[in-house]
Amino acid sequence: MYELLVVGGGPAGLSAALNARRRDKGVLLATKETISSKLRPAGRIENYPGLPGVSGPELAERFREHAAAVGVEIRQEEILSIQPGESGFFVIGKNEGYEAAAVILATGAPQKASIPGEARLAGRGVSYCATCDGMFFRDKDVMVISQLPAGEEEAAFLAGICRKVYYLPEYKGEYRLPPGVELVSGKVLRLEGDEQLERVVTSESEYRVAGVFLERAGLPPEQLCPGLAMADDAIQVDRRMATNIPG
Ligand SMILES: Cc1cc2nc3c(=O)[nH]c(=O)nc-3n(C[C@H](O)[C@H](O)[C@H](O)COP(=O)(O)OP(=O)(O)OC[C@H]3O[C@@H](n4cnc5c(N)ncnc54)[C@H](O)[C@@H]3O)c2cc1C
Repeated sequence: MYELLVVGGGPAGLSAALNARRRDKGVLLATKETISSKLRPAGRIENYPGLPGVSGPELAERFREHAAAVGVEIRQEEILSIQPGESGFFVIGKNEGYEAAAVILATGAPQKASIPGEARLAGRGVSYCATCDGMFFRDKDVMVISQLPAGEEEAAFLAGICRKVYYLPEYKGEYRLPPGVELVSGKVLRLEGDEQLERVVTSESEYRVAGVFLERAGLPPEQLCPGLAMADDAIQVDRRMATNIPG
């Protein structure tokens, strides 16, 4: 069992993990992306003391090297669920399960359902995890809408299951997509369907799909850790910064 598991490898998570190591705690840091999708596009950072003009990716790399050098175990892993137990937490990742006495959530600003139709059709064709739900769409047409390069892996995985996979990236870069995945562009306007998702409407076209997979930087904390008290979209803490769940 780890003494501390930090979820999220952005500046907050790396800093928390580093400081826990200063207190000699055994720390696992699980992060979905090697470089935070917020830091990646930051060309020049002018307000970080001591490093004027540093780029986001360079700063992220320096944070990461520092944390690894003091003994933080860093794994590329998406955490799907955190369940409080008798003496700590059971943490379910996409690749593995973990136990930890304490957990720090440093998953960045929560991403809410933001596409018209998304909240209504969640679980009815709208999914957030290809590994979890991909098989429901065997031999069907699907679309992956992704804010992160990690979506390319989700699309490649789905290409082995689904009849057709459209890939709509919401980030710039080079896209590594296998044959069978069609790259499309445009701004997503809405998701349509009565009982089930039927189509995705973008600024450029309409796509008839049975499933849409949304790849975003993070799940809202209360979805990751059921029972976690929230206040105004933020984790509720007391004057000692403790949440309603001990640990
Ligand atoms: C273009 C741009 C420029 C910016 N420039 C500046 C600047 O000049 N100065 C400045 O102070 N700030 C700047 N910012 C803001 C800064 O990047 C953010 O404030 C900072 O990254 C927030 O850090 P964080 O650790 O809280 O969250 P994030 O950086 O969002 O990191 C959270 C990490 O957690 C991971 N994660 C989420 N959910 C899970 C999960 N379930 N399992 C595993 N991992 C998960 C995410 O993948 C992500 O890597 C900029 C942001 C952008 C987009």
